[in-house]
Amino acid sequence: MSNKTKSKNNQELSYQIVLSYKVSHNYPIKTFLIECRDKLNECISIIWNNIEYLKEKKPKLPKSNEFKRDLRNKLLENWDYASHYIDGIIKTAYSILESWSSNYKKGYRTKTKPIVKRLFVRVKTTLIKYDKEKGEVRITIKPRTEYLILNIKNEWFFNKVRDLTIGEIILKENEAFLTFKDNLNYSDREIIVGVDSNLKSLDLFHPIENWIRVDLTELHRIKEVYDKKIDGLKKLLKKCPLRVLRKIKRLLERRRNRVNDFLHKLTTQLSRLFPNAIFVFEDLNKRKMYKNKHHNRRIDRANWNGIIEKISYKTIAILVNPAYTSTTCPICGSKMESQEGQVVYCSNCMNSFNRQLVGCINIFRKGLGKIKKLMGGPGVASTGAEVSLRKLMTPNPNVVYYVDYNGKYLKCL
Ligand SMILES: [Zn+2]
Repeated sequence: MSNKTKSKNNQELSYQIVLSYKVSHNYPIKTFLIECRDKLNECISIIWNNIEYLKEKKPKLPKSNEFKRDLRNKLLENWDYASHYIDGIIKTAYSILESWSSNYKKGYRTKTKPIVKRLFVRVKTTLIKYDKEKGEVRITIKPRTEYLILNIKNEWFFNKVRDLTIGEIILKENEAFLTFKDNLNYSDREIIVGVDSNLKSLDLFHPIENWIRVDLTELHRIKEVYDKKIDGLKKLLKKCPLRVLRKIKRLLERRRNRVNDFLHKLTTQLSRLFPNAIFVFEDLNKRKMYKNKHHNRRIDRANWNGIIEKISYKTIAILVNPAYTSTTCPICGSKMESQEGQVVYCSNCMNSFNRQLVGCINIFRKGLGKIKKLMGGPGVASTGAEVSLRKLMTPNPNVVYYVDYNGKYLKCL
């Protein structure tokens, strides 16, 4: 999770989240964006020419302060715009090359220099002035001579961001993506939700709604379609490696975009479903996933981390230790034997439960405990957290939601 600001003092415990919004504009900035893109490609070239190869497949990007200083000076030549843009361009170039390098190590990319075609530039906060009274965001293009003003007073989100601090902006030809930083306190929140992830669903435990499922079959389907295509191509790799690699690269990119798009919608709609909630997730770095014998609890790690990362931009998410979350009896708390199948049975209190419900309710309880501890006492009102026996015995979720591609909220069929 990013941007976490923690303080041990009870009530000051807060997380910083980033909200982002898109606005359109009509400023004729194409020339400026083209020059930014050319600088970005120039920057990539310079770094590219200074990459060291420790072993054949181990590229090492140049990172010394001396190199970076020279790079910045070189890029500032023939640059009429604000010099802070160059800093953003350098940052972008490094992240493009880091991503190339990690894919190259895995054999997904060849030793060809990435070239950027899209027109965009990152605007650092030093170049932005936010007038909260007028609802105006002013971006410096050239210091003291050229500015671009976005009026957001009439945008639907203005009330939400009125008192927040503005962050980086991504500027494109006809639109701008604004970000705002918000501090959220635990004490503002009333409800917590435990989230357990399974191969084709997210299972949530909410103190009032109880067991809720969000269906992920569509996500699973998207991945399978691309994985099949990629596996098919891998067999042809020996015949004409360059062409096949290029195709694989394109498929991977499309797969990533489709998955990201899905996760983005999922997390936005989930945070809208429970706007006052703290979401609790298992900390999978502490879970020995690949040693887990239960195939029906197998989890796609990338997926999971993507969900946690994206949701923590939109609301509060905390992580708990996953130990025993799938084997602790929700009624008597004793440890249940490992069992196959959807229904698990406690030999101590003789009750049986659905496996997914056991997972999310135990995560919910761990989250509740953690927050109480962090708040130094019973700080969080856990409305209805004491769950009746009957509700724990249910074989199916109360409601199943689906991501709505065309709407703002999760839908149930
Ligand atoms: Zn029991």
